[in-house]
Amino acid sequence: MGGNEEKYVAEAFATNWIAPLGPHVNGFEAAIREELGNGVHAAVLSSGTAAIHLGLQILGVSYGDEVLCQSFTFSASANPITYLGARPVFIDSERDTWNMSPALLRKAIEDRIAKYKKPKAILAVHLYGMPYNVEAIQQIADEFDIPILEDSAEALGSSCHGVACGTFGTIGVLSFNGNKIITTSGGGALVSKNKAYTEKAIFLATQARDEAPHYQHSHIGYNYRMSNVLAGIGRGQMEVLADRVAARRRNYDYYVAHLGGMETFEFLAEPEGYRSNRWLSCLLTPSFEHREMIRLALLAEDIESRPLWKPLHLQPIFEQELSFLDGTSLDLFHRGLCLPSGSNLTDSDLERIVNIIKTTKS
Ligand SMILES: *Cc1c(COP(=O)(O)O)cnc(C)c1O
Repeated sequence: MGGNEEKYVAEAFATNWIAPLGPHVNGFEAAIREELGNGVHAAVLSSGTAAIHLGLQILGVSYGDEVLCQSFTFSASANPITYLGARPVFIDSERDTWNMSPALLRKAIEDRIAKYKKPKAILAVHLYGMPYNVEAIQQIADEFDIPILEDSAEALGSSCHGVACGTFGTIGVLSFNGNKIITTSGGGALVSKNKAYTEKAIFLATQARDEAPHYQHSHIGYNYRMSNVLAGIGRGQMEVLADRVAARRRNYDYYVAHLGGMETFEFLAEPEGYRSNRWLSCLLTPSFEHREMIRLALLAEDIESRPLWKPLHLQPIFEQELSFLDGTSLDLFHRGLCLPSGSNLTDSDLERIVNIIKTTKS
């Protein structure tokens, strides 16, 4: 926590705004709008997963539809596709950003259109805080007139040519889960330049009540709005977002400075104009065996590290789904490791980690 969170939470108690609405909800949304810029509006919700669920629904995804989804991501990106009775079509990654491959995206769209199954949405992810290839993906989306749901759950504070991640898609999604760069313990947001979309999200997230003195419903609703207490935490966290990004980027720079010159290891550099929040610092090792050697050597010293996300097309829940692949995400999964990346790591922590990694050999 940064410092002011408890003050905002105490204010919620003092004013008795203990509900999924109130001044902190409005204030947190205003802070998000200001931070992201680019003319977006925000609706704060109970989770990023809830934001993806509502976002897909607002983009018109329903039973039997197909959604083109990045395979190299956390399962929460794709799970809401199935909540709607739709099916994911998985797209492999490109080397430059580790995110959705524009070439495979085009191939998938052409294939599905040829089979009279034009996809309803493109779900692209800024994984580990690195922006996806915004220009190429947007150009394909425009060419085929398919909306983008931008999963920016890991990329608050990232940007591309000075424009904030979360503001590129027709709808963008943020997460404030406990493991993200800033947190409300659990929470998320749906953002869009189209105010009708954020208003629709708030309507659906608060049980879809029609205008009437009694309870009247002409849509199925959800209980997905963020609590005013948690929004208080969010207001305090927004004040330290820039510090958190600086701390995460410093971790990454330390790892690159001490391991990057060894030729054994690779890091994901920022393409020209791209700025990652470096939510997690990731290392590419020469082989699966070397990656495991490092992971186990760190674990023996009580230091947690973790393989990169297992691609969704290989997960038991999704392995029967259609996929457009070239082996990139599988290779990253085999050889990649998320290193300790907390905003509170000290120089001596980082030195210890680097020294253990240096003792391993291919
Ligand atoms: C965390 C995360 C989500 C889900 O957000 P929650 O707030 O935890 O529901 C979705 N996509 C990605 C890529 C994430 O990392």
